[in-house]
Amino acid sequence: MDFILKKPHALCIPTPFQGHINPMLKLAKILHSRGFHITFVNTEFYHQRLLRSQGSDALNGLPSFCFEAIPDGLPPPENPGATPDALSFCMSVDEICLGPLKSLLSKLNASSPPVTCMVADIFMGFTHDAAREFDIPEIVLWTSDVGSLMCLHEYPNLLERDLVPRKDSTFLSNEYLNTMIDCIPTMPGLRLKDLPSFTRRTSPGDEYMLQYLRLQTERAKSASAIIFNTFHELDSDLLDTLSSVFAPCYAVGPFHLLEKEIDESLPFVKSSLWKEDNNCLKWLESKPPSSVIYVNFGSITVMKYQHLLEFCWGLANSNYPFLWIIRPDLVIGQSAVQLPSEFLEETSSRGMLASWCPQEQVLNHPSIGGFLTHSGWNSTIESISSGVPMICCPFSGDQQTNCWSCCNRWGVGMEIEKDVKREEVAKLVIELMNGEKGKEMRKNATDLKNMAEKACSSPFGSSTVNLEKVIQLLQATPN
Ligand code: UDP
Repeated sequence: MDFILKKPHALCIPTPFQGHINPMLKLAKILHSRGFHITFVNTEFYHQRLLRSQGSDALNGLPSFCFEAIPDGLPPPENPGATPDALSFCMSVDEICLGPLKSLLSKLNASSPPVTCMVADIFMGFTHDAAREFDIPEIVLWTSDVGSLMCLHEYPNLLERDLVPRKDSTFLSNEYLNTMIDCIPTMPGLRLKDLPSFTRRTSPGDEYMLQYLRLQTERAKSASAIIFNTFHELDSDLLDTLSSVFAPCYAVGPFHLLEKEIDESLPFVKSSLWKEDNNCLKWLESKPPSSVIYVNFGSITVMKYQHLLEFCWGLANSNYPFLWIIRPDLVIGQSAVQLPSEFLEETSSRGMLASWCPQEQVLNHPSIGGFLTHSGWNSTIESISSGVPMICCPFSGDQQTNCWSCCNRWGVGMEIEKDVKREEVAKLVIELMNGEKGKEMRKNATDLKNMAEKACSSPFGSSTVNLEKVIQLLQATPN
């Protein structure tokens, strides 16, 4: 490998979902602060949505940080806030996106500076062909936790041992789902229910999705490296094991802490697909330290109305102040969420509701004492690096595995059953906010927060050092 001297130009290509766009945009900002020219490539569906939520000025900032869009084959959204169905997206992306990406590369190369490297979400595997054809190094980003990549990698092993939940009556039994899996290295004590839902075959489309994800991770073996939004101290055993089977694996996070270290030269670039309600920050100012439970189920989770009611009354009965973010599309079958008037009356003096918030700022607010979360990876790493303990209520994707790690590996979470009951919600909130277990979890979370800060802010911190290695790989050019 030679090192090129011209200004590096990175094409950053996220999978177009909020939980994937956020970390990719942070990474892009970090690379920009290190002298990279950035072209951030959205697919059309989400590009339009970002423009609607942020306004065109938000994506038209600096000449050295540009946005482009390529077609994704998805029909235009039914409503302005629609999220594409993941299965439809996967089915179209491989077929549609490669040609437009290559055309974009040619177009950009005709301008200055030419594209010298790519950073792509691991699920955008078509990018490898383009990187190969244009002879530039590529690094892939895994936006979930390291454990879920390990589970995906171990899938053939699980299948051979009949340890993959299938669509039959046994799938529904708790006894079956609590079966221990003892064959995944570095994840002792994992149960069937803790496997990421994409390694299950319980609904139509699962098989396709699973094969798609496995194909993408196989393709990632030809990348220069895989990077993770975590820090080495949190996941060292898993990272070391995966490095021996995939490309070298580097933990270069939490990205938002590294991003904090850079100047604010890109304040205009935002990735939120909803408008943030900043009133909740003012409301938090009026609350004592560590007194508020923050509730948020992320950008795509949906739930039954009955479960929403159980959360309502569980929060009300806990008697703690709460900040609850309720997206308009949170409840299955409803276009706007209706909460019971009795609940609203009873909690008006201690409950704050909003539809989207600046989550990192909320989690870092001294009034927050705990987080009731769906355990998406970004929410999990943001909570850990803010020193906030969690009640984990996983729904799908990697959330089950994140929940398991929080509860069993890091001691910063308590799990709540998916078929949630109000008594359990109230009990766990009270325990989290003021019980012995809650105090222990808060201490563990504070220790991890300190470790994360050290990894990102010290010149010898693990994430700072790994970032240097990744930058070197991106600046290397194949002979
Ligand atoms: N987020 C936010 N405001 C909200 C809810 C979520 O800014 O009200 C951000 C959050 O900080 C995180 C991302 O959206 O970066 C959600 O990602 P995660 O992996 O936690 O969950 P997903 O939405 O992918 O299920």
